[in-house]
Order: sequence, then structure tokens, then C-alpha cells
Amino acid sequence: MAPGCQFASDNTAGICPEAWEALQEANLGHQPSYGDDHYTREACDSFREVFETDCDVYFVFTGTAANSLALASLCHSYHSVIAHSVSHVETDECGAPEFFSNGSKLLLAKGEHAKCDPADVARLIRSRNDLHFPKPRALSVSQSTEFGTVYRPEELKELWGVCRSHGVSMHMDGARFANAMASLGCSPAEATWRSGVDVLCFGGTKNGMAMTEAVVFFDKELSKEFAWRCKQAGQLASKMRFISAQWRRLLQDGVWLRYASLANAHAQALAAGLREIEGAEILHAVEANAVFAKLSPDVDKRLKAAGWKYYSFIGGGARFMCSWKTTEEEVQALLGAARG
Ligand SMILES: *Cc1c(COP(=O)(O)O)cnc(C)c1O
Repeated sequence: MAPGCQFASDNTAGICPEAWEALQEANLGHQPSYGDDHYTREACDSFREVFETDCDVYFVFTGTAANSLALASLCHSYHSVIAHSVSHVETDECGAPEFFSNGSKLLLAKGEHAKCDPADVARLIRSRNDLHFPKPRALSVSQSTEFGTVYRPEELKELWGVCRSHGVSMHMDGARFANAMASLGCSPAEATWRSGVDVLCFGGTKNGMAMTEAVVFFDKELSKEFAWRCKQAGQLASKMRFISAQWRRLLQDGVWLRYASLANAHAQALAAGLREIEGAEILHAVEANAVFAKLSPDVDKRLKAAGWKYYSFIGGGARFMCSWKTTEEEVQALLGAARG
């Protein structure tokens, strides 16, 4: 094992064996196109089983597309979306949520550890109700958050309470939903629609699949013409079976949760090791697969000299992400280099 970009992001890891096998299986023979195949039907049924409800499921290629199209389906151009100031929709989607909704403005909420503070969300919702201000229509929460923290169902319900009375729907950016679920241990239903989530963008890519995110609507009123929206945005896969076959496989027997649990466990081990090292300070609670650490110049230099790559532009420190592919050996190697 050579030190490299293993911890730079959870998308530096490739495709997990189960997803790879599913791709090979889907490659046999001919199948109907544009999602009219049995892999897609069975994958959508698996979502309904996992979430214990009759949800509506669509597949797109990226998280940016999933979030933007989901939010656009909630909003007219004169609406606004409340999101944390440290959220992917705000900082890492190049204005796509605003673009696809034809101009819905993002309103930024505050809150510790990248979680929206219900009081601040209430402040934003109530601040104005006149014609001159974009009408709040959606709250977007990231699960897990950009700082690797996780909303508990009670916290989501509190936000829901704030939103519900004002006609504000809840969108969940679940690029790392699997890691959040592995951490929470409650049912996926409890962590989503039973806590007020209307639409979930469920990340497949960071969970070990190739290029896919699922948009899961719990409120079917909102998904009425979503298929057209996807097609117009160039997000309707003609060979959809290669996407849905992966979901079908990973949702079976909890493969998705097993990999997320592994990644989370490695993050815990990495954080525990860093806590013992002088010049490394853990910045946020490690609740999913991310570890944020403030590193002294010495530790930073040692890691970089050893060849480890990681980002330092998010969250005020060095970010280490674990993935389905992370090994104990890699965790120990990184810790060894940090110790010097
Ligand atoms: C990775 C990620 C996404 C998806 O990003 P794409 O590069 O568009 O696939 C969305 N939200 C969060 C929080 C992410 O970490």
C-alpha cells in the first residue's frame, strides 16, 4: 500500500465488488432502455422496502443534479431554499440549485457543526412575508453533514415543526445518507419521512457504486413531472439498468449499510489515533465517515512528506474521509506518518 489520496475523499475509492458484479450481470443479453427493465423495477421496489413506504424513485448521475432537480421540483423561481452556510448546495454546486429552479434564492442558516439551528431557520422563515422577498419554500439539510455530523430524528422533527406550519418542505442531501444511517441505527423511515423529509437525495457513488444518486420522493405530489425534469436536464440514462442494477444489489441484504458501517468504524479508529498525537486536534464530533483535525505544521508536514493527500479548505482543518475501501492498514499507516 502506497500512501496517496485514500483519505482525500470517499469518492477516491473505486467501485465495490457487489456493484461491479451487478454491472456485469446487467451486461448480459439485451434489456429494454430508459428504465423499462426489470433491474429498475426491482431496484425501485427495494427502495420501497427499505423505506417501508410507497415512495417514488428516480436515478441521476451526480449529487449536484439530484439536489438541484429535487429542489427545483419544490420551488418556483420566486421561492427560496434555506440551507446551512456550510452545505454542498451553497458551496459546491456552482449555482446549480438556483439555475435549475430558474432563480430560487438560497437563504443561509446558521448552526453548530454544520447542522441547521431550528431557531435560525424559524428566523429566516418569519423574517419577511411581503412581496419583495423570495418566499421560503424548502429547507435543505445534509445527512450526514459537511462536517461529518448527523441529525438525530428528534432534531429533524424539530426542524419539521418549524417548517410545517409555514408550508416549507424538507429536502435531504443524503450524499452520505448510508453513513448517517449506519451511525443512527434507527430505521431509514424514521430518519426520513417519519421525521418530515419530503424528498431525499440518496448517494450511491460515495457508498461504493459507480456514478449514481437516487432521488426518493416521499410526497408523490412533488414528483408528478419529475421524469420530464430529469430528461430535460440530460439526466435520464438510456441504459438505466447499469445504474439500477447496482442499487438493486446494494440494497439487498444491507450491503449499503455494511460498507457505511465499515467506513464509520475506520473513521472512529482514525480519530482515536489522532487524539493521541501531539499536534492533532479533532474539530468535530465523528459521527459518520469524516474526521476533521487541526494539525500542527509539523504533523501536516510529516503527512505530506509521506505522500498522504487531503483537503484543508473545508471545516477549518484537515479532512480525512473513510470509504467502503478503507483498510485498517491504511488507517495505521496514516497514524504512523502523523506520529513521525
Ligand atoms: C459529494 C457530495 C454531493 C454530490 O456531489 P457531486 O460531485 O455532484 O456528485 C452532494 N452533497 C454532499 C454533501 C456531498 O458530499
